[in-house]
Amino acid sequence: RDEELAAIAAAPNANSGAPTIFDKIISKEIPSSIVYEDESVLAFRDISPQAPVHVLVIPKLRDGLTQLGKAEKRHEEILGQLLHAAKIVAEKEGISDGFRVVINSGASACQSVYHLHLHVLGGRQMKWPPG
Ligand code: C5P
Repeated sequence: RDEELAAIAAAPNANSGAPTIFDKIISKEIPSSIVYEDESVLAFRDISPQAPVHVLVIPKLRDGLTQLGKAEKRHEEILGQLLHAAKIVAEKEGISDGFRVVINSGASACQSVYHLHLHVLGGRQMKWPPG
């Protein structure tokens, strides 16, 4: 919890639309462990995995999509592409039979990077309700 709050406090660009660390991952300026990539999305392993499989799926073009709570009609296509990519990631990672997709939107949901991303989690028994 302390780590989560620290990460949120360290997100000064929340909703400003400013570049985030994920832009550098997309440009490959910062290396990442890529699981899946196409012209629209990039999926890479989370640096701080919360499950045996923990992959982030992000749009390559952010287009103002800092968080799900800011999504607009024009984002419908990329939102669908992200979910479809999450399914492909689950297949590639061998967790198709059971996995979880999470989107944290906003500070009270513990969003720390303001470039929309889906978390694909699996490889262990997930619990409900989530924290
Ligand atoms: O949903 P939230 O914004 O909290 O998720 C951001 C995620 O990005 C975290 O799970 C964090 O571990 C991950 N991250 C990463 N590589 C970075 C910075 C953050 O995988 N360089």
